[in-house]
Amino acid sequence: MIRYIDELQLTGKRTFIRVDFNVPLEGRRVTDDTRIREALPTIRRALELGGKVILASHLGRPKGPDPKLSLEPVAARLADLLGPKHEVILTDDCIGDGVKKQVKDLKEGQVIVLENLRFHKEEEANDETFSRELASLADVYVNDAFGTAHRAHASTAGMVPFVKEKAAGLLMKKEIEYLGRVLKNPEKPFVAILGGSKVSDKIKVIENLLPKVDVLLIGGAMAYTFLKAQGVEVGKSRVEGDKLSLATRLLEAAQRLKTPIVLPVDHVVSDKLPNPEDKDKNKDILARETADNAIPTDMLGLDIGPKTREMFTQHIRDARTVIWNGPMGMFEVAKFAEGTRSVATAMANNKQAVTVIGGGDSAAAVKEMGMAEQLSHVSTGGGASLEFLEGQELPGIKALETR
Ligand code: ADP
Ligand code: MG
Repeated sequence: MIRYIDELQLTGKRTFIRVDFNVPLEGRRVTDDTRIREALPTIRRALELGGKVILASHLGRPKGPDPKLSLEPVAARLADLLGPKHEVILTDDCIGDGVKKQVKDLKEGQVIVLENLRFHKEEEANDETFSRELASLADVYVNDAFGTAHRAHASTAGMVPFVKEKAAGLLMKKEIEYLGRVLKNPEKPFVAILGGSKVSDKIKVIENLLPKVDVLLIGGAMAYTFLKAQGVEVGKSRVEGDKLSLATRLLEAAQRLKTPIVLPVDHVVSDKLPNPEDKDKNKDILARETADNAIPTDMLGLDIGPKTREMFTQHIRDARTVIWNGPMGMFEVAKFAEGTRSVATAMANNKQAVTVIGGGDSAAAVKEMGMAEQLSHVSTGGGASLEFLEGQELPGIKALETR
């Protein structure tokens, strides 16, 4: 069993919240504060409940203390967002006597941001001494950083047993509830859509979802490995040669389970692989629809075609639960974004279904297309959501279990 922050009594308690403040920086400027804003509900709740709030996060991949990766710009942005009623204090380290004193002296309404956890290599090493140091700052441990929950680090796992009380934050709660509901008791019909660049990245997701879903729709580059395994001509499309027999095995497993795997019946192809960065050149790039699932030998598939879009839309329209991971094509280039857009639109239009997106690029695509708000849940953790969908137990979530 996992408790959530709103079930706790926090008055006067030192409340250590592991947040995900790993935001993009340009120099000393936060270029996208989404992650800071997403942590606000939990921070505000902890303050309302009377907790003494201590926030901890990593930022980037420092090799040791590195002023360029200080959480200073993050703390400044947080102070703006929290408003004048709250003072945000950045400590110069995340452990040590100085920090302990600052925590002890914390006054009502003040919030502490601990300096970058990864300035200590012990964080990622999940070192016990370091874990105990972090734990000594806290009466209550709250994890709201789903994006790092698939890592067993000191701040996500190691310190937890050394703190008296523990709970998940509100962002973490939403992730556990939606991703958990999809895997454990999805309302039927349950449709999964998988895409993205490689079959090899998604094997375990396919294996875990196949016995649960009513239908599995496959698009994106990984569809070509499946088509080739069936003997379909895929031209110069990206194929993982060493995964052809695996693709065949998965198709056979689907047949035994009587769960259809639906592959594209047409494509949008080009004569060369575009570079998404070349915005100018990509305006002139060739984009042609094929008549059927075969791709001309001198062409490569970059998106699902109109018949496939229509077919996938029909499946999604009738569903009560939809999980989607992996873009349907090279959506970064406008000419090859229609497949991804049509799946996002079909999910957004199905108001009777629980609609969930996992995966970093898929989440970025629906946000860019302005459809994220119309879905039940867009996961904030790329790698973490994939591991969750693989059926793995995430160390950061396991650590919160109280039985
Ligand atoms: P996610 O992060 O959502 O799990 P992936 O990382 O597996 O998704 O895949 C996303 C990438 O796959 C995107 O950069 C996209 O351009 C690429 N992609 C999808 N379809 C194709 C295709 N047909 N050819 C080349 N690249 C593709
Ligand atoms: Mg990705």
